[in-house]
Amino acid sequence: MTNGKSVNDDTSDDDLISDSPRGERREADPWSDFKSSSSEDERGESGRLETAEDVIRFIFAGKATLTVLGTATKTRFTFRVSIPPPYDDGRTSTVKFFVSVLDGPDNESNYRYLGNVFKKPDGWDYAWSKKSRIAEDAPSSKCFGWFFDTVIKERRMHPRMEVWHEGRCGRCGMKLTVPESIRDGIGPECRKKMGRDSQ
Ligand SMILES: [Zn+2]
Repeated sequence: MTNGKSVNDDTSDDDLISDSPRGERREADPWSDFKSSSSEDERGESGRLETAEDVIRFIFAGKATLTVLGTATKTRFTFRVSIPPPYDDGRTSTVKFFVSVLDGPDNESNYRYLGNVFKKPDGWDYAWSKKSRIAEDAPSSKCFGWFFDTVIKERRMHPRMEVWHEGRCGRCGMKLTVPESIRDGIGPECRKKMGRDSQ
């Protein structure tokens, strides 16, 4: 033990678990597990996306996790925007991205489907889906709709909004370590590939 407690300390954690008053095993605090999960270790340093161009590049990279923060209200939502799996029969769809929102303590698995991003002749569009279990007028749903209209369609940031990536590459999801990557949320290898793709 390195916590400085004496060997005979009756209040050690082991005793608390095995000798609770009613003989019940004390339930572990799930939050402590989430905080120490390996996924946390695989995350790099989060970074603020400063311009609409940076946000647009990031959000359409394929596997983007971003947090939209209202600076006045301190309201924040973390969204994932990812390429849907292909249809088995090779069909193509106008749906180019699925949008989900983090809704729970596990930053890996607690995402709930929210809606779809469509490619239209005149640009991108987003629509909440009836298949979502989150109400269309729920705060997270309204937040994404507003964010999409402002940043993606009108191509502008809002003075009371910040957009952050969560320390992982928007294209492949790997930990970001290089300062330049932390600035725009795209890792060096993926940046090269995205450069080629756009030519
Ligand atoms: Zn990458």
